[in-house]
Amino acid sequence: MTIPVDGRVTKRRPGSVKGGLAVADSRPVFRDGRVHGLRCTECRNPSAQRDLPWCPLCRGRVVQDSFSPTGSVWASTVVAIPVGNRKPPFALGYVDLDDGPRVLAHLAMPETAPIGTRVTVTGVELGDLVAEVVA
Ligand SMILES: [Zn+2]
Repeated sequence: MTIPVDGRVTKRRPGSVKGGLAVADSRPVFRDGRVHGLRCTECRNPSAQRDLPWCPLCRGRVVQDSFSPTGSVWASTVVAIPVGNRKPPFALGYVDLDDGPRVLAHLAMPETAPIGTRVTVTGVELGDLVAEVVA
């Protein structure tokens, strides 16, 4: 399905900012010092998504859970172009939470972090998780 946006035809939905329907926000929730998500009651698979009808691995039942904010960097990169209201350069990293899923976070540093760097998710900025290197 294609929807005209700003005179162009695109497959992207415009979202509520551009007067369209609201688009689901799949970013993880950080509240009370923990990352919130779901965990499968059958295979214990963790997920940082807000709403899943069932476990993507085994189709088991999922329940709300929260995860420790500490983890290790799985991969990182520096973004060199502006994205939304963010000005480059800024670093992004996938973080494997110690007792939870892999989440995407903005790294509170302007360079990449080596694989395995210990970090802690410390908050949310513009709706995205922010992680800082553990001293
Ligand atoms: Zn499962």
